[in-house]
Amino acid sequence: MAKKSIADVNVAGKTVLMRVDFNVPLDENCNVTDDRRVRMAVPSIQSVIDRGGKLILCSHLGQPKDGEDQSKFSLKPTAATLSTLLGKPVTFATDTVDADATAKVAALKDGEVLLLENLRFNKGEKKGDAAFAAKLAAFADIYCNDAFGTCHRTDASMVAVPQAMTGKPRVVGFLVQKEIQYLSDAIANPQRPFIAILGGAKVSDKINVIKNLLGICDKVLIGGAMAYTFSLAKGGKVGKSRVELDKVELAKELIQLGGSKLVLPVDTHCGDAFKGDCNKVVVKAGEIPDTFEGFDIGPATAAQYAEELKSAKTVVWNGPMGVFEMPPFDAGTRIVAEAIANSSATSIIGGGDSAAAIQQLGFADKVSHVSTGGGASLSMLEGEKFAAVELLDEA
Ligand code: AMP
Repeated sequence: MAKKSIADVNVAGKTVLMRVDFNVPLDENCNVTDDRRVRMAVPSIQSVIDRGGKLILCSHLGQPKDGEDQSKFSLKPTAATLSTLLGKPVTFATDTVDADATAKVAALKDGEVLLLENLRFNKGEKKGDAAFAAKLAAFADIYCNDAFGTCHRTDASMVAVPQAMTGKPRVVGFLVQKEIQYLSDAIANPQRPFIAILGGAKVSDKINVIKNLLGICDKVLIGGAMAYTFSLAKGGKVGKSRVELDKVELAKELIQLGGSKLVLPVDTHCGDAFKGDCNKVVVKAGEIPDTFEGFDIGPATAAQYAEELKSAKTVVWNGPMGVFEMPPFDAGTRIVAEAIANSSATSIIGGGDSAAAIQQLGFADKVSHVSTGGGASLSMLEGEKFAAVELLDEA
């Protein structure tokens, strides 16, 4: 399902409307505290302006509600961030489709960049409203989607706008192109053995990912707190561990469905309080004492998973193996991350906490791909098709 990319269209003298994901964190003074999302969009932005295109950028930021101070959600600080990264001015429009944006779009010259105000200041954005979309669509000759973090959504700028631009080029940016290449194409035609390693807090968040990956992987290794719900399903003792009692039946089904493909931990590193200097004990899986809770996979499990990962040709990892934010319970996550980093497999790290963990542990540049989208990468691993991507032009 290769999509036409922004590199495939002639943008000289044309106006490009690019949906980006500038949903960055801001501090109380509205300073951008992490500019990663803006930086990730620079290659697509640079590609348009270097080739003499007129570029309109649009994004959402946060979830502004009626009656809230809207200035906390303004995209204006990101215009300054982008301007610094590009080394050239970035014009900012104080509205999205009204007088200021319309005047600034009309004044845009080849090679210039205009950033519109937060799309979500318009009710039509979340509703996928066609009238709102038509106004945005009318601004441009070419539509480009480079907002991977929002690709699983059907907001107006993601779906109704490209729909309204039918007949004009509608392409992906480099960021979305790379995410699709890894999270969809590499998984659809994996090099084998293909091993998935799934952890994190809850089974309920990852049911569909587990089901989908059990269908295509050679092995699915389980860690994190979700392992204790599986442990309960097998009649184990989990002490005070975090479990989802209403998901035990489902865990039984997944164990049945997975057979020998579904690999559960053999031991658990437990503590008697949620702090790094608590009393600790390593026990066999399913034998957690009543006053303890599991905080990490145990050393035997970590060694076993690292060994499994050695032979893998494709690896997908989503969700930490334990409370990686609280040493020494980061050990299991670190051993797994190191094994992935040292393997020659195509390695794909889902967004959210596993992306944070691989970055924190310093292995991010040793894997093939770290996804930028939490929810979007999970949806892709569930095998979901995104309307926002499906409707774009094929290469
Ligand atoms: P998720 O967002 O589902 O990927 O979960 C990530 C969170 O799960 C991280 O903040 C971890 O600290 C937490 N987590 C992982 N393992 C455990 C565990 N054994 N007990 C409690 N929390 C855990």
